[in-house]
Amino acid sequence: MNDAISPAASAKADEEAQVLDSIERWIEKEVRPIAKKFDQADEYPFDLVEQMKELGLFGATISQEYGGLGLSASCYAKLVTAISAAWMAPTGIFNSHLIMAQAVERNGTEAQKRDLLPRFATGELRGGIGLTEPDAGTDLQGIRSVARRDGDDYVINGTKTWITNGIYGTCFGILVKTDPEAQPRHRGMSLFVCEKGDGFTVGRKLKKLGYRSIDSAELVFDNYRVPATRLVGGEEGRGFQHTVGGLELGRINVAARGVGLATGALNEALRYAQQRRTFGKPICQHQAIQLKLADMATRAEAARLLVEQAARKYDTGVRCDLEAGMAKLFASEAAVTNSLDAMRIFGGYSYSVDFDVERYYRDAPLMCIGEGTNEMQRIIISRQLVERNPA
Ligand SMILES: Cc1cc2nc3c(=O)[nH]c(=O)nc-3n(C[C@H](O)[C@H](O)[C@H](O)COP(=O)(O)OP(=O)(O)OC[C@H]3O[C@@H](n4cnc5c(N)ncnc54)[C@H](O)[C@@H]3O)c2cc1C
Repeated sequence: MNDAISPAASAKADEEAQVLDSIERWIEKEVRPIAKKFDQADEYPFDLVEQMKELGLFGATISQEYGGLGLSASCYAKLVTAISAAWMAPTGIFNSHLIMAQAVERNGTEAQKRDLLPRFATGELRGGIGLTEPDAGTDLQGIRSVARRDGDDYVINGTKTWITNGIYGTCFGILVKTDPEAQPRHRGMSLFVCEKGDGFTVGRKLKKLGYRSIDSAELVFDNYRVPATRLVGGEEGRGFQHTVGGLELGRINVAARGVGLATGALNEALRYAQQRRTFGKPICQHQAIQLKLADMATRAEAARLLVEQAARKYDTGVRCDLEAGMAKLFASEAAVTNSLDAMRIFGGYSYSVDFDVERYYRDAPLMCIGEGTNEMQRIIISRQLVERNPA
């Protein structure tokens, strides 16, 4: 058997190592130093967005053919983990944008790809994905937004909520019903790429427990006209598949954020436990703290390995919803548990906004909700287990 790595694979690995290296330098120079101030003020990091454009982050997973960096899922997951270990929120600026881009790249017509992907890759057009509505999140097929054909356009009416990048983004993948009566319901769903304009307004900015600084908002469509050429794939009734088809990578993203948070919380706790002294010794020498640190490190490492496994499988093009679901479930719960354990290790100081652990603690629960709640992950994992192991 020949295990030699091909020259092309080796060149790609070198290229990806360089990208990771520049991202790590950017994190230390630009991201970590501003995280506390911006999070506490809930202030939008405009400068970071410009730097993200220069780093190519808005095209991270878009193919090079369309002007992106064409990173593998494995490399992208490492990049998301590294940023999240310092400050998770900024990853949302390009994560949900790339979910929209991926939907176009995987399902769009060639004309849509040529028109949109290069502009997505530079960040000239940037935004996110609008699925959730006030009355429908998990039950996505229950959405009520409707698009009706009118000549060369569709006319969209409805409201989306919780949409990341809703205020500062300009372009969104919007899931609607083109046939509200269709049965099964998913056959009546379609995805459109919608740029802000007449009839597409931003409702209120949503104030949040964590994941601050990043805009989450309602998007309101009131007789908004979108050209029929913006129907992804050019065919009605495929939107649900286009959306759920992108969830594997979306789950790997969220899992990678979880690993970052779990690791960031561990690093803070490890440092503090060596500095803080009680009863004549550093608290890291008390057994109760040692047990916590050991569990935190094991959890973070196990989560990292699950994410690596899922990303590797994704990169080979094999279906990986079981692996991505397990990684998302475990890594997000690891983030919640590690951030709470870090709070305990910091004692009273955990409650102070002078330390970063309170931010990890506020940011972590979102990972259990986004890209399918962890309740749904368990159901997906279990269904997959049965499907792959028929009795
Ligand atoms: C900060 C933030 C950013 C977000 N960004 C975006 C975005 O950019 N785009 C977007 O479209 N959405 C976004 N969302 C929305 C998010 O995807 C939804 O909140 C999520 O899908 C859950 O939907 P829901 O809130 O309506 O909960 P519900 O669907 O009402 O669920 C409530 C509870 O019931 C459980 N549940 C529901 N159905 C079942 C079932 N069949 N079996 C077992 N348990 C079940 C759920 O797990 C959950 O615990 C964001 C949310 C937040 C908080």
